[in-house]
Amino acid sequence: MEQKNSPIEAARQTLIQLMQRKLPPTPDHFRSVYDEIMGVKSIDQSAELGKTLEKVLQQAGKQKPKYIAVAQALNPLIEKGDWPKVEEQLTKLFPSSATSANVEEANWSNVIRNLLKQLEVSHKGVTLSRKKEGLSKVLVNFASDSDVLAQKIQALVSSWGLSGTADAVMSSDVADATASANVATPTVSASSITGSSQWRDMLLRAFELSIIPNLTDTPDLHQKAVSLLDRMQKASNEQSLMICAADLKSILLSLEMQRDQQSRIHESLLQLLRLVLSSMGEMVQAEDKWLYAQTTVISDIVSKPVNLNTLYDAESSLKELVYKQAQLKPALTEAKDTLKKMVTTFVDRLVEMTESTSDYHDKIEAYQQKIATTDNIGELNVLLNSILDDTRSIGLTVQRTRDEFMNSQKQALAAEKRIQELTAELDYIGQVAHQDYLTGALNRRGMDEALEREFSRADRHNTTLCVAMLDIDHFKKLNDTLGHATGDEALTHLVKVLKDVLRTTDVLARYGGEEFIIILPATPQDEAVKVITRVQRELTKNFFMHNSERVLITFSAGVAERVGNESPEALIPRADAALYKAKHSGRNRVIGSENLPESLV
Ligand code: GH3
Ligand code: MG
Ligand code: MG
Repeated sequence: MEQKNSPIEAARQTLIQLMQRKLPPTPDHFRSVYDEIMGVKSIDQSAELGKTLEKVLQQAGKQKPKYIAVAQALNPLIEKGDWPKVEEQLTKLFPSSATSANVEEANWSNVIRNLLKQLEVSHKGVTLSRKKEGLSKVLVNFASDSDVLAQKIQALVSSWGLSGTADAVMSSDVADATASANVATPTVSASSITGSSQWRDMLLRAFELSIIPNLTDTPDLHQKAVSLLDRMQKASNEQSLMICAADLKSILLSLEMQRDQQSRIHESLLQLLRLVLSSMGEMVQAEDKWLYAQTTVISDIVSKPVNLNTLYDAESSLKELVYKQAQLKPALTEAKDTLKKMVTTFVDRLVEMTESTSDYHDKIEAYQQKIATTDNIGELNVLLNSILDDTRSIGLTVQRTRDEFMNSQKQALAAEKRIQELTAELDYIGQVAHQDYLTGALNRRGMDEALEREFSRADRHNTTLCVAMLDIDHFKKLNDTLGHATGDEALTHLVKVLKDVLRTTDVLARYGGEEFIIILPATPQDEAVKVITRVQRELTKNFFMHNSERVLITFSAGVAERVGNESPEALIPRADAALYKAKHSGRNRVIGSENLPESLV
């Protein structure tokens, strides 16, 4: 006979007990009655499962706080056996497909691309430092959960587009961060989230490559930034990162203030220049029309929004003006001096003659003083007229002197006329000047005339010609590193080398800035390409020297051969298009045009 507590007997007894207790024969009821009969403590498997789940979820919660919240909610539901709710809670752990497993796989490349783009775009009312501050908060507060971090970054970036709402979004981020801090302490360890090391690298690179170079004018701040970069690279815990964040904020603030100051200095200098020009214009308006016209040109240039090119244009006009003045001034001074000397000598003689007439003598002395202190031809004439009037009144003794005086006045008028002629002559020379004052190459005016001349010569002789367009490579960089004056010297050097290599029949003109045009008469395209390539080679041998150091200047060039009776206006753009190609295929090369003139296409 089987013992009472044998499994088979216990099972039989269990069924009897279930019937007697009127319990439905569910597996749970069966197990608990069976355990009772066998005399063992019944294990609640659901509770055990609940505990295990909670333990695992708590563990996972160290990485993602939302697991902890689910773990806490699960326990009472398991106790109650509320399985649908348990399922609901567990589902929360996995992002539904509606949210497109989106940021879970954290499409980080899109998030970062968008972030970088939006950092560069300007948003009304949201400064760059404000953006960075917001980003820094989000990074610190949500570093522990990559999904949430990505969502928060996206929300932050979207908020920049909604002007004026940035604050609200940022503060809600902060509120969220505080809430999650109650659940688990966020950590900023680089290994805690996917992609954070890329973030770190990107931020460090941005700091090193775009912030530090902007601080070279302020050595103290520059030093601070360099040391901060070092500390940021080494920062491994939250505390050191927080210190770095504070220092970074102060550097960004200084940088912003510095930028602000620089733009104000820039604007004030421009304002000053405008003022000088306007008062200069008023001063010379009546006397010197040429000078007045020049100041108007420069005023016009600086009254519009300025960029480097407009400033260079203004500088070029000013240099021309100074040059012109230097030529005009000695001639004018000489003419005025002659006039002054003549009048002074005459008055001296008059003084001797009229010593007896004390009243007249006093007057003459006063005139003498006035004459000594004036350079103004108009005033000198007025004085001469006054003296004439006074002279009339002293009678016959001065009659002879009066005649002489009239004569002198005539001479004075002649001298004034000569001055006017001289000024007009210089104006004319200025107007027809063909040379660029800096390099000695032809200027635009000279170029236009040369184009007309060479094109009609080619027509007459039925020969071809080429136009080459040349542009120095990275010239802006040369200016930036060695200074504008050195840039000017480099331009002169290039022109010298060009003149050495080019044939005497070739025409060289400065097209503008660091661009030149060369007309090569009676030359087919392949030949012209060879000539310009020779200039390139020569430049690599004949270095431009700056402070006893060799500076290599290279240029790119496009060459186009005239087809039929093509006009300069059609040919130059073809050379320009070839130059564009040369620039885009790596610079320091000469490319011949492959395009046909528009008229033949
Ligand atoms: P790349 O042509 O290779 O594309 O680069 P780049 O730096 O030469 O190009 P870009 O045409 O943008 O810059 C031309 C610069 O030349 C702008 C200005 O700084 C400088 N420049 C123009 N005229 C003068 C001048 O008369 N003197 C000096 N020193 N610099 C000039
Ligand atoms: Mg250029
Ligand atoms: Mg250039």
